[in-house]
Amino acid sequence: MKIVRYSKNGASSYGILKEEKIMTVSGNIYSDFRETGESILLKYVKLQPPVDPANIVAIGLNYKSHAIETKMDFPHAPVIFIKTTNTVTGPDDEIILPKMAPDEVDYEAELAIVIGKMAKNVTEEEAFEYVLGYTCAQDVSARDCQIRTDVQWARGKSFDTFCPIGPCIETEMDPDNARISLKLNGEVMQNSSTSDLIFSCRGLVSYLSRCMTLLPGTLILTGTPSGVGFTRKPPVFLRSGDRTEVEIENIGMLKNRVVSE
Ligand code: MG
Repeated sequence: MKIVRYSKNGASSYGILKEEKIMTVSGNIYSDFRETGESILLKYVKLQPPVDPANIVAIGLNYKSHAIETKMDFPHAPVIFIKTTNTVTGPDDEIILPKMAPDEVDYEAELAIVIGKMAKNVTEEEAFEYVLGYTCAQDVSARDCQIRTDVQWARGKSFDTFCPIGPCIETEMDPDNARISLKLNGEVMQNSSTSDLIFSCRGLVSYLSRCMTLLPGTLILTGTPSGVGFTRKPPVFLRSGDRTEVEIENIGMLKNRVVSE
């Protein structure tokens, strides 16, 4: 099932995407909801970020290929950092190069886990009972702040619009074996599979639930595969006018364009 959130005439609603149609629903996507029997064509609405996250927890260096390209050792435990919730932006929305740090903004395709039920101290075996589904995300990163000027990553990862998500929450996929790719202006820059993850989705939910209570709507960004811009020779950074497309098997494609603040 593909859960979407959309706006029409100023109102925001959830629905179930079925090809070119959105079936409208009543109820709460985190507890009980049902289709109303009515539908609306996708082309008549604007899709919104499919979740207003309670928190955004992100994992660094979680693909073997990305750890290798950054010349870092494989981590012994998940590398956890936080993106603030002002970063969230939706399908077809803009990624804004911030005035404060416009020069080294990088793309990162990521599979994001959407927590469905409050999770505290859950085992790996139980973990998927607490997951609502999965969506495409980008962990947009200002590399100059992240790598050179700041010790912590919070600022470089948390400028407005630095977390595009969407287009839907897919509730029925296998998150451990999905193709993930990113195109920049139509050219493939990242092309991998979640089977290359060092810490699996099941393991991350369990581990994080032992660190912090995971509230419904928490987003967990699971890391990015190889091919990011700053490791290329010469480096590639986002410029005004660029178009990014993150595609994850079974979920769909998240498209955004880049503008200057
Ligand atoms: Mg990342």
